[in-house]
Amino acid sequence: MGADCIFCKIVAGVIPAAKVFEDKQTIAFLDIGPLAEGHLLLIPRAHYAQITDLPAELSAAMAAVLPRLASAVLAVTGAAGLNILQNNGRAAGQVVDHVHVHLIPRREGDGLGFRWNAGSYAVGRADELTRRLRAVLS
Ligand code: 5GP
Ligand code: ZN
Repeated sequence: MGADCIFCKIVAGVIPAAKVFEDKQTIAFLDIGPLAEGHLLLIPRAHYAQITDLPAELSAAMAAVLPRLASAVLAVTGAAGLNILQNNGRAAGQVVDHVHVHLIPRREGDGLGFRWNAGSYAVGRADELTRRLRAVLS
């Protein structure tokens, strides 16, 4: 258990949460500060701060339940769409340092979203990044 980790406390049952799903490795519950009704958080029971810390098997266990959770949220809320969001680090908006996936119901004109300021690559830059990423991933 992470020291003073709010989500570890939810896992341990020390603080309450509106749990909607649990299995051996994961728990899903309502976000206490929803961006829309039905906004869910999916977390691993085990404490890992960021996606880069997560064992691949646990990441797979989380991914495995996402389609069911997404379907349930859409069915119950009647939302027209759904964003799946996972923040890592303060620069990316992470506040709780226990890996979590947001499932956020969306409707046309709901005013949510973030700026999608698409850029472009200077000549040669995409090739360089591709080469460096392949090297790290090989
Ligand atoms: P982050 O910004 O770290 O990606 O998102 C953390 C989320 O956890 C926020 O949306 C916030 O509302 C939610 N949250 C923080 N504390 C609690 C809590 O005690 N219970 C529940 N259910 N959600 C929480
Ligand atoms: Zn934790």
